[in-house]
Amino acid sequence: MTNTLLEIKDLHVHYETDAGEVQAVNGVSLSLQRGERLALVGESGSGKTTTALAIMRLLKPPAKIVSGEILLNGRDLLKMDEEEMRFTRLDKVALVTQAAMNSLNPVMRIKDQLTDGLEDHGYQESKAKRRKRVTEMLTRVGLDPNVADMYPHQLSGGMKQRVAMATATALNPDLIIADEPTSALDVVVQRQVMATLGRLQRETDASVILVGHDMGLIAQFADRVGVMYAGKLVDLQPVQHMIENPMHPYSRLLLESVPTLERKQEKLVGIPGITPRLINLPQGCLFCPRCPDAMDICTEVEPQLSQIQPGRWTACHLFTDENSTQEINA
Ligand code: SF4
Repeated sequence: MTNTLLEIKDLHVHYETDAGEVQAVNGVSLSLQRGERLALVGESGSGKTTTALAIMRLLKPPAKIVSGEILLNGRDLLKMDEEEMRFTRLDKVALVTQAAMNSLNPVMRIKDQLTDGLEDHGYQESKAKRRKRVTEMLTRVGLDPNVADMYPHQLSGGMKQRVAMATATALNPDLIIADEPTSALDVVVQRQVMATLGRLQRETDASVILVGHDMGLIAQFADRVGVMYAGKLVDLQPVQHMIENPMHPYSRLLLESVPTLERKQEKLVGIPGITPRLINLPQGCLFCPRCPDAMDICTEVEPQLSQIQPGRWTACHLFTDENSTQEINA
């Protein structure tokens, strides 16, 4: 068994609209190691959630996966039939979204919702075993076993999100995709939910893809950070490098737009300009109109994701030289 759990190769996802095909994910390639925590960040519309939903095969029309491969344990998820993919979800790969806590059935007790997915995957257990399993699932996410007999309206937002996490990880999946799992929660509860996710990851040794925009949470959680812009992966680095010494100008501006204790006296600056329309893309670097470091070459030649230093990948002409290497999977 190799240490690589997930390989995404040249993934393209489009949305069909009356105005034309929106290239929402445009040639994304990356790999994820077993037990690794990877964060995907970027502005709205950068393609990070679309990439996450493509892995789950949960995209709905007008979205369509145009080409690419998504290999989980060496099997291409895009080649599985619907039934096999249904079993792969929850068993091998699970999704926790910000809306997960709101998707709990208001008229079902928590214990029945926790075991719903298990039964769907063929688990038939005695009442006693079922109760034991529910207790374990709740304890694992830091909830009191008595929560089993409650209804969703009796739980706080943070508790509901933990129930959603317990449900998603019931079968110890190899990969947990957490798409903005704390967006609807207050700051203190956000920290608690992220700590729960971290503990789940350690206990199950799953890999995690965390989609988000809170660089503070990401800095505390992730091993590596991938930055997406206009459907492309433009930067991929160990989290410490990303925070202390970002390379790609977009990553730098993203970090500069985050308030810190050191910068609390300074005026916060956003990133100038807006993200491009993803229809009929221009040539060159898509970040060029907003980039303070743009050069002539940037309007003509699209920079490719290249390894600039060991483990540090970026797609920017500022860093491309004869020493960099381009590979399909970063
Ligand atoms: Fe800026 Fe050019 Fe780098 Fe694009 S390639 S991010 S425009 S310097």
